[in-house]
Amino acid sequence: MKPLRLPAEDRQHLLTFLRDLVRIPSPSTQEADVAQRIVEELDTVGLPEVKVDPIGNVVTRIGPGGGPTLMLSAHMDTVRVSGPESWARDPFSAEVEDGLLYGVGSCDMKGGLAAMVYALKILKDLGADLKGDIVLSCVVQEEECEGLGTRVLIKESGIRPDWVVIGEPTDLNISRGQRGRLEMQVVTHGRSAHAASPHLGENAINTAARLVFGLEMLTEQMAEDDFLGPGTLAVTDISSRASSRNAIPDRCSLILDRRLTLGENETTALSQVQRVIAREGVGATVAVTEYRASSYTGYECQARKLYPPWVLSADHPLVDAAVRAAQMQLKRRPGITHWRFSTEGVYTAGEAGIPSVGLGPGKEAAAHTADEHVRLEDVYTAAEIYAQLALRLLGRA
Ligand SMILES: [Zn+2]
Repeated sequence: MKPLRLPAEDRQHLLTFLRDLVRIPSPSTQEADVAQRIVEELDTVGLPEVKVDPIGNVVTRIGPGGGPTLMLSAHMDTVRVSGPESWARDPFSAEVEDGLLYGVGSCDMKGGLAAMVYALKILKDLGADLKGDIVLSCVVQEEECEGLGTRVLIKESGIRPDWVVIGEPTDLNISRGQRGRLEMQVVTHGRSAHAASPHLGENAINTAARLVFGLEMLTEQMAEDDFLGPGTLAVTDISSRASSRNAIPDRCSLILDRRLTLGENETTALSQVQRVIAREGVGATVAVTEYRASSYTGYECQARKLYPPWVLSADHPLVDAAVRAAQMQLKRRPGITHWRFSTEGVYTAGEAGIPSVGLGPGKEAAAHTADEHVRLEDVYTAAEIYAQLALRLLGRA
């Protein structure tokens, strides 16, 4: 094994490709144009086996067919730009300054996606003798419903990965897990009355307020995992219903974002909230929310917002292979870490039980922020690490 190098000419092509990706807006469910650009690039670099599946994921493959399969997992969508005025640069200009490329999605995760495309080019140009396949999956709607795109891909395509590498930002360290996520809705019910006589009604907002304080107290009861840290709960939305602004609301809804650490699940999370409701003695219900959307291809998506936590053990051969591949290219040992945010791993590792690790250019803290950026040198290095890792897992020599 020796270090691989992405040639200067391909670095230039990768940069052009990445700048195009950043310039094409691709919020979740609106990935059509960026998908088209990815298909074009895969064709340009000489990867002819490109498919767009029913939900709109772009998938390609190299290898002999049969044998073990490594999946390189990327997502094409980005979050929406809520406050462009907070950016020092145009979020879609893909400006490069001092070796950093700026723009929405540059770090999360168009940089990782572009690196994965060029990892395949490195392997193709090497003419590597592989005993299995490398599948690149560029999925839709990760930002709104992580795991959905990969679930559809795996269920409908017949692709059965043996290992998954997720290219979300890790600053080129190895991530071997993340907390899961559960979104719940709590609804309180009251009784409407004229606001001039509030004592005749029962205010659903006041009831919800009592629950908000009760839920805050739950923080001390959250399970804690040595590696992933504690579970958390946050009230992230509140809305109410009343016949007018001078009527007592008869319904109030709270949205809860619950991060699940290892050992926590839907049952533990729901029963904690139910206990708060019972303790306060109020009329309220709690349920897991649902994600519903049409993909850009018109595929109707429906999924419960339940995303399990996952951890791959530190001594798993995939972690070892990823560390060695990164070390070979970086000339230093990468850190082993976990993500604070959520990724496609909730499906690949959390649900399907496929050994998964994360490795990508960019810092996790830069994702979803104004002036999001990625270091170009790290994008090129990521391409080399992915190719190096593929050779370690699938090379014959
Ligand atoms: Zn991401």
